[in-house]
Amino acid sequence: MEATPDDHPVWVTSADGTAEHAVPDTAMAAGLELESVCGARFLPAAMTAPPGKTCEECLTHLLVPAPREPEPRRLWRRYVAKH
Ligand SMILES: [Zn+2]
Repeated sequence: MEATPDDHPVWVTSADGTAEHAVPDTAMAAGLELESVCGARFLPAAMTAPPGKTCEECLTHLLVPAPREPEPRRLWRRYVAKH
C-alpha cells in the first residue's frame, strides 16, 4: 500500500511482536489483517503489547512521500506552458 501525504499513518505492532509497521488510517477499517506502507500484511498485537522494532522500510516510505505525478511529466508540462 503506497502512502500519500493525505494518509495519517499509525504505528501498529505485529502480533508476533517482531516489528512495528506504519499503517495508513484508511487501511485500519479494512479488516483484522492490516497492510502497512511497506507492503507487509500482519495481524495487530494487543494494545497492551510492548512496541516492536520500528520497521525500517516503513520509515523509508514515510520519509519519501509518493509524488502525486511522475516528475518527468511535471517537467514536460512546465516546458509546454512556456512554449
Ligand atoms: Zn513495515
